[in-house]
Amino acid sequence: MTSVEEAFDLVVIGGGSGGVRAARIAATHGARVAIVEKSRWGGTCVVRGCIPKKLFVYAAQAREALALAASFGHQIEHRGHDFAALRDAVAGEVTRLSGLYRGNLARAGVVLFEGEAACVDAHTVAVRTGAGERRLRGEKLLLAVGGVPRRLAVPGGELIDVSDDFFTLRERPAHAVVIGAGFIAAEFASVLIALGGRVTMVVRGGRGLPGFDDDVATRVFAGLAARGVDIRWHTEVAAVEKNAAGLRVTTKASAGTDGAGAGELTCTWICAAIGRDPNLDGLGLASLGVALGPQGHIVVDEWSQTSVPGVFAVGDCTGRVQLTPAAIREGHAFADSQFGGPRRPLRHGVVPSAVFSLPQAAGVGLTEAEARSQFGAACGIYQTEFRALQSALLPADAAFDRIFMKLVVQGEAEIVVGAHMVGDGAAEIIQMAGIAVTAGLTKADFDATLALHPTAAEEFVLLKKQ
Ligand code: FAD
Repeated sequence: MTSVEEAFDLVVIGGGSGGVRAARIAATHGARVAIVEKSRWGGTCVVRGCIPKKLFVYAAQAREALALAASFGHQIEHRGHDFAALRDAVAGEVTRLSGLYRGNLARAGVVLFEGEAACVDAHTVAVRTGAGERRLRGEKLLLAVGGVPRRLAVPGGELIDVSDDFFTLRERPAHAVVIGAGFIAAEFASVLIALGGRVTMVVRGGRGLPGFDDDVATRVFAGLAARGVDIRWHTEVAAVEKNAAGLRVTTKASAGTDGAGAGELTCTWICAAIGRDPNLDGLGLASLGVALGPQGHIVVDEWSQTSVPGVFAVGDCTGRVQLTPAAIREGHAFADSQFGGPRRPLRHGVVPSAVFSLPQAAGVGLTEAEARSQFGAACGIYQTEFRALQSALLPADAAFDRIFMKLVVQGEAEIVVGAHMVGDGAAEIIQMAGIAVTAGLTKADFDATLALHPTAAEEFVLLKKQ
């Protein structure tokens, strides 16, 4: 039997980055808030995204640090890597963090429901739990349902895993095929090769890391290749089948290319990292009349308002900026605006982003190509490339990454509109450069900043025009 059990000022669907922030802030403003989560509290970022991914990246960096340590005289014998121990330790940390999210919501006075939610109308949500169905009434509804990894529709496609599966692998794949060349694909390839596997990347196009500066993307993929990742550009997976050795992958050349991509390879694990789609299945949006965009995302305005009055949406399901800090900011701005905080329309501002691959890269603001198309001749480039001091003692024949930095400036005042970097610490350094780009500082402001020596970051205040 179903009945409307409780009425709330706000019912949030989705206990991930955006939903949790919105629920907590609305409750802090005195609203009566319910939140529904069908999987685990914390959502993609905490459970199957940023956090567990970064812990695996630290494991990869630790492996590379051993070679560096030898150059400083340490005598270290690497006897192997216990992948299962790492996976279980990461899972333990995820469980701890997920519990913190749950606890913080409850402490803020939010009422938690564990089950799958579907919209009945613009004010009613049905929640399916193990114990049956419950109905919640909300003056306002917030859809914060995130995204799901896109699957590849080819014969044998059911044998192809997605990013969620990476975190529960039984063992480190002896030979992994990673389909795609976005930030998740580059990160997974880096981790698996550093931990001792073979990795082949199958990439439909001719460049990786969409959204990143061209020079950055080129250097990241050169670094992956230097580590032994076999990158097959202009190639697509056509079919997968099981064989005695593992999985047989048939590839074909991407349309319009020279045909070199056609072939076969055998691997032990294959994963598609080819994008994410909004997680809207079974949510009942069609009957509600919520408008969707061309890629299937929920269309919202600057107040995160959907086409249906009283129904709002934040985070990945809106397809604006698919990163955790953006989902959090959207959730916070929504809760402030609707429940008594300062009313403010959403502004993402300049967006810093990183790829935690080996080598690492990050950027903020406009890429060189974006600046050139916006400002033409009124844009300028300052860049440098150098060997990091920490790799100075490596043997002469050892491979190492060079550090690359670029500032993109605009106009006579040389306002810094973009900063990009490849190399150790790129994400940490670019986070700080993001303040300068957000503030609209100029190249002269960078020049006026005294260097902090010896660091890699000091090169950002010492750049000369090429
Ligand atoms: P989510 O965090 O996905 O939360 C949505 C929640 O809604 C989920 O918990 C889901 O179970 C729940 N839900 C869905 N439907 C229902 C329903 N019908 N009923 C009840 N609950 C429902 N971003 C970064 O900023 N930095 C990174 O380094 C980074 N790395 C990433 C690595 C990977 C492998 C992946 C996949 C993503 C990464 N991201 C990263 C992206 C980041 O995780 C997302 O942008 C962020 O989690 C989006 O938050 P959200 O609140 O929109 O959705």
